Amino acid sequence: MQEADVLVIGAGAGGIVAAWRAASLGAKTVLLEKTPRIGTKILISGGGKCNITHDGPIETVLRAFRPEEARFIRPACYRFPNHRIVEMLTDRGLNVYTRPDGRIFPVEQTAKDVVAILRTYLDDAGVDLRLETPVESIVSDDRGVSGVRTKHGPMACRHVILATGGSSYPNSGTTGDGWPWARSLGHSLAPIRAALAPIFLPGQEARSGIALRDIVLKARQSGKVIDRHRGDLLFTHRGISGPATLEVSRAVSEHLEQGPVTLEVDLQPDQSFEELSAEVKAWLAEHPKRQIRGLAEAYVAKSLAGDLLADAEIPPETVAAQLPQKARNRLIEVLKGWSLGSVEGVWLDKGEVVAGGVCLDEVDPQTMRSRLCRGLYLCGEVLDLAGPVGGYNLQAAFATGFVAGETAAGDATS
Ligand SMILES: Cc1cc2nc3c(=O)[nH]c(=O)nc-3n(C[C@H](O)[C@H](O)[C@H](O)COP(=O)(O)OP(=O)(O)OC[C@H]3O[C@@H](n4cnc5c(N)ncnc54)[C@H](O)[C@@H]3O)c2cc1C
Repeated sequence: MQEADVLVIGAGAGGIVAAWRAASLGAKTVLLEKTPRIGTKILISGGGKCNITHDGPIETVLRAFRPEEARFIRPACYRFPNHRIVEMLTDRGLNVYTRPDGRIFPVEQTAKDVVAILRTYLDDAGVDLRLETPVESIVSDDRGVSGVRTKHGPMACRHVILATGGSSYPNSGTTGDGWPWARSLGHSLAPIRAALAPIFLPGQEARSGIALRDIVLKARQSGKVIDRHRGDLLFTHRGISGPATLEVSRAVSEHLEQGPVTLEVDLQPDQSFEELSAEVKAWLAEHPKRQIRGLAEAYVAKSLAGDLLADAEIPPETVAAQLPQKARNRLIEVLKGWSLGSVEGVWLDKGEVVAGGVCLDEVDPQTMRSRLCRGLYLCGEVLDLAGPVGGYNLQAAFATGFVAGETAAGDATS
């Protein structure tokens, strides 16, 4: 006996919207969640504030993704655009605002309120939510998916939506469970790699807690720039974090497999070498008796000035009037490309998302149906999708979840 028309595995962003959509179209829908709560990653998103989605025309939102990912989520994002999730939340009492950079957040409320509102949608649509019900496998027969095995026993169902997410922040419940099941049903997986994650760099302990504001972080391999991002950077006990770091982390983790990756910082991205040179020259002329340490402190935090000058091979107590031209040029080179050294690794489990997952060409982007296994639908981060910081990843999960729910309900009730 079929226990439900549609089974959804995983009550994260994708699974919640998928279950709500399926149930609201009349499908008897069961949502299975391993942990005692729904939306755990939404709860920790945006530092607990939840960057719900990204504002702007869909084509602009899609441009933030890699081209193959944008192509894949385009149909879903048109079916469930960014303003749709905002409307669902504001209709039920959430106040939101859009930051100048396009990121949409609750005003005075938090991620908790976002999840509480999403819960009301599940309840109103009649979704049968079963918490603390870990799924152990998906079962199939010659007709395709036939159900799942859970910790509490088997459940028969011909329409199963896989929404188990990625594998970062494993304490939140996402431990990559869906990938071996997808593989057992014939899917292939793009390699799982860290994305939007902090980077391990040796020797940063003394700098821990110091920030570099509005810099350009460049990642290089064999001298060639493999990625760059403008933003803030934060030194941590074991390396670096902050927006600029998170954004380059995906390219860094990909390239580390081929060889060493080095990082450098342009501390004055708005100035060319010549402009900066003129500025430094002017400072030296204006303050002939001051130590060069004072100049370095104009560009970095006091506690970093010594390191910066050491890299330029300039003793910090050098008096401005005595700075040779060669040393001045070295200083400018360091300001435009301060080496942070070689990357040791990227923290997959501390990433906001992981890159890799079920290969996109094995899933129909119009329907989220598996092209390989009848009755299987996929959405969210279990797929090989990873957008940048800015509300893009929740948008991708919501939109693909919406389409998966709609298709599964249609298939199950037709
Ligand atoms: C710290 C942090 C901050 C973030 N901030 C933002 C942000 O502000 N904006 C943004 O757009 N994105 C953000 N993200 C990314 C975003 O949260 C995820 O991309 C998104 O939640 C993915 O949705 P999903 O539904 O695919 O997976 P998830 O939300 O991860 O949900 C998967 C669900 O499946 C459940 N599950 C797993 N295995 C099983 C199983 N065997 N049986 C039953 N259930 C199972 C899990 O417990 C979980 O509830 C952030 C991520 C992190 C970690």
